[in-house]
Amino acid sequence: MSHPVLRVTFILLFAIVMAGCATGLPRNPLADWQPSPNHEPRRARAIVLHHTAMDSAEGALHTLQTENSGGPVSAHYLIGDDGRVYQLVSEQQRAWHAGGSRWAGISDLNSWSIGIELDNDGAEPFSEAQIRSLLVLLEDITGRLGIQRHMVLAHGDVAPTKKDDPSALFPWQRLADAGFGLWQREHLSAPPAGFDPWLAMRLLGYDLRDRSAALAAFHRRYRGRDERTWLPGDDAILYDLQQQMLQMQ
Ligand SMILES: [Zn+2]
Repeated sequence: MSHPVLRVTFILLFAIVMAGCATGLPRNPLADWQPSPNHEPRRARAIVLHHTAMDSAEGALHTLQTENSGGPVSAHYLIGDDGRVYQLVSEQQRAWHAGGSRWAGISDLNSWSIGIELDNDGAEPFSEAQIRSLLVLLEDITGRLGIQRHMVLAHGDVAPTKKDDPSALFPWQRLADAGFGLWQREHLSAPPAGFDPWLAMRLLGYDLRDRSAALAAFHRRYRGRDERTWLPGDDAILYDLQQQMLQMQ
């Protein structure tokens, strides 16, 4: 141990071990630690898409590494309008992108989703390069993490009273053509007598505590507009989406 190289090596190893103790997984002192090998990192169950409402990916990167007017924010990924993909937070960690949110009766989407920000000012179309990169990323994430492909949601879906991103210009049909998210099938049939469109909304996952906000989110996604009251044709779309959901059960 007197050799200088050995001594330095020992000190480094000691430092690494101590750092591991300091930052390692906490073990509850109230219990005996009897580790089991049968575990894995907790996995996300959904993917939440956003637009940044900013002018550049550089500006968005800065905000997602610091804070916005409401406090610190982040997302797992940011996709520039040139198609470049940035990762800011490990998929195993909880990023701060969804805020107060609820889907299918479960709140706090941050705890069970991957957040993807799209560099878009909220008024412009989404670029081809960006959508191509998004589709590649969705294929990758859903495959590796075992997230069901229909669980690709809009921020506006899960926080309908507070958020409206991504905008009505987002190409949900294109995503559905690639197998992500839900979309109405080409030939819709009239719903049977007694069909309840609100029940269908609830089955899809919408939080109905503010029904007009939920309707705006539904229309933004499936009709490309932000209407807050029922539109002709909504019943047939919801009946079709309900049938698709029931067939997945
Ligand atoms: Zn958002």
